[in-house]
Amino acid sequence: MRPSGRRPDRLNETDRMYVADTIAAIATAPGVGAVGIIRVSGPGSVDVARAVFAGRDPAVWRSHRLMRGDILGAGGERVDDGLAVLMRAPHSYTGEDVLELHCHGSPAALQEVLRAALAAGARPAEPGEFTKRAFLNGKLDLAQAEAVMDLVRCRTPSAAVRAADQLSGSLSRHLAELRERLIRLKAHLEVLIDFSDEDVDLDPDAVASEAEELRKLFADLSSTYRSGRLYREGLRVAITGRPNVGKSSILNALARANRAIVTEIPGTTRDVLEEVIDIAGVPVVIADTAGLREGAERVEQIGIERARAAAAAADLVVVVLDRSVPYADPPYWPSAEQSVVIAVNKIDLPARWEDLPEDRIAGAAAAVAISAQTGLGIADLESAIVGVAGAGARDSTPPLTNTRQRDAVDKVAASLAEAVDAARAGAPPDIVAVDVQIALRHLAAVTGEIVNDDVLDLVFREFCMGK
Ligand code: GDP
Repeated sequence: MRPSGRRPDRLNETDRMYVADTIAAIATAPGVGAVGIIRVSGPGSVDVARAVFAGRDPAVWRSHRLMRGDILGAGGERVDDGLAVLMRAPHSYTGEDVLELHCHGSPAALQEVLRAALAAGARPAEPGEFTKRAFLNGKLDLAQAEAVMDLVRCRTPSAAVRAADQLSGSLSRHLAELRERLIRLKAHLEVLIDFSDEDVDLDPDAVASEAEELRKLFADLSSTYRSGRLYREGLRVAITGRPNVGKSSILNALARANRAIVTEIPGTTRDVLEEVIDIAGVPVVIADTAGLREGAERVEQIGIERARAAAAAADLVVVVLDRSVPYADPPYWPSAEQSVVIAVNKIDLPARWEDLPEDRIAGAAAAVAISAQTGLGIADLESAIVGVAGAGARDSTPPLTNTRQRDAVDKVAASLAEAVDAARAGAPPDIVAVDVQIALRHLAAVTGEIVNDDVLDLVFREFCMGK
């Protein structure tokens, strides 16, 4: 991991007090595991080590060296036989003294060791507090801190590769290059201001064209959010159509052909079955909206409404049509903002119709002929799904992964658009310089050089315990 090297200069008094104490948490997932880890960070880490680990005095431990010994509970009794490691400031994740205790993964023993750590002067860490400290101590910038969370949450190996890239600082480096250019542009303008009465060899047109070029680069960066989000949050797909067209069979065929990703998805409704599968690296969250049809019985109505809601919330809707029965128009047609893929199913059976209605073809991004039964065309359906979502297309720059980053980048582009307009309208250089300065301020928000506590709370609140 590469520290950004730039310590945020925005630490206020509360932050300094906040960083000064020692925090502890169980860092591994709840439940029984082969190993369970307790993490401690702060100036009291050595004291905690002394209290919970029997053996040589931690004050003389070498940094980053694993020690084996007895791990003690709050009453000094031995509760485990495990490993301990001290990573001394500033060469640790948080930049503070960090202690890790590697125990056998019994939740009861871990709780007891945590109790012992708290009794020795630590306090329970808040979610994301270790990473927040890493940020406050200048070990990571905000975009990198967000990548830590993306890495923890990622659902496919491709998503992990992207998050790891951002964690290594790819986005931050790209932003640093753009920042350099903005600063140079501002310096150029300042020269124009200083020598406005004299005959200096600086071209105001060059200012407008450089500002425009930068504006375009930021607009391009903003557009990477779509693919960044795709890998981070997954593509929400709904499979819709009349009863018996083969919706469940298609879901099963897709799940069979692809690795199903077993994760808990918050907000899953029972009436709408959801599966997460890995299609070409994209986490695809499929809602099976079985039973979507008009004029159903009252009891079914509730399920149908949920199915409609799931379809309405999807990024992409697969409309399934059955070619083995006379053509029947689908009961649900997605909104204009949603992408549509038409799947003409049951092509293994004799066809009862041939051509899709023109208006349906016009409203769809792709139409594929398949048989959920035999698997014919399922690969085409997969390509259509990820293709429509724009996955696979390589971004020219590291993608933005969340709305916080995108909103800030959009503001940079908007300020630069103002700078371009002003420069082209022949405004004095100091006016143009103000717009460039505003752009720089918005840019600083992305990496967290300028950020307020509310934003920080929002970012780190999403983290899990011990991270
Ligand atoms: P749903 O109500 O839309 O979810 O439809 P199902 O997936 O339950 O399928 C309805 C019936 O059609 C079942 O008997 C399936 O076995 C059958 N079926 C689905 N897809 C195909 C297909 O491609 N070919 C054939 N021959 N039968 C299919």
